[in-house]
Amino acid sequence: MDSGIDLLNSNPGLFNAVINYPAVCLPLLDTAFVEIMTDLEKLSQDDDILIAKANAHVRISNLPQVPAYFRTSIPTSDDVGKLVSVTATVTRSGPVNMVVEMRMYECPKCHGTFPVRADVDRNCQIVPPVVCMANEIPGCKATKFKLIPDDQAHQATMPLRSYQEIKIQEQVNKLSLGTISFSFY
Ligand SMILES: [Zn+2]
Repeated sequence: MDSGIDLLNSNPGLFNAVINYPAVCLPLLDTAFVEIMTDLEKLSQDDDILIAKANAHVRISNLPQVPAYFRTSIPTSDDVGKLVSVTATVTRSGPVNMVVEMRMYECPKCHGTFPVRADVDRNCQIVPPVVCMANEIPGCKATKFKLIPDDQAHQATMPLRSYQEIKIQEQVNKLSLGTISFSFY
């Protein structure tokens, strides 16, 4: 967990990148976080104190209280794909589901491998790739890819993440007079 205010003060460029392109930046921060933990574990004299976790994530909390990032109203279509903080009341919550976060695919033409992450816009399902993202050969034209590892036992060890659908409602005391309180899934 990292404070958005601390991140803005220490590295405004990185803060803006995370706010505007979270789908790209948060996985990169996850990778950097795991690499830092692994380096610290190697430097540690005592093996029991520092143990690197492979399935760890960076979360940004405490965003600066300015309208660009911090809202008391339902986000609009302009906010799609951006990181915003919303203060609202949770009026309904669905079950917590576990979904596979990422799967690796192998290209039959260039033999490169690449990850495909769960798509939040499609109920966190992993959409099978239709273009090669391995970057082994520029312009690789493969359209079908092999899931690796493809046996069920290995698939059971794939990284999981929890996923929950909630309904939120704007808080009436935070709205201007005469404004209707909207809700949002
Ligand atoms: Zn390929």
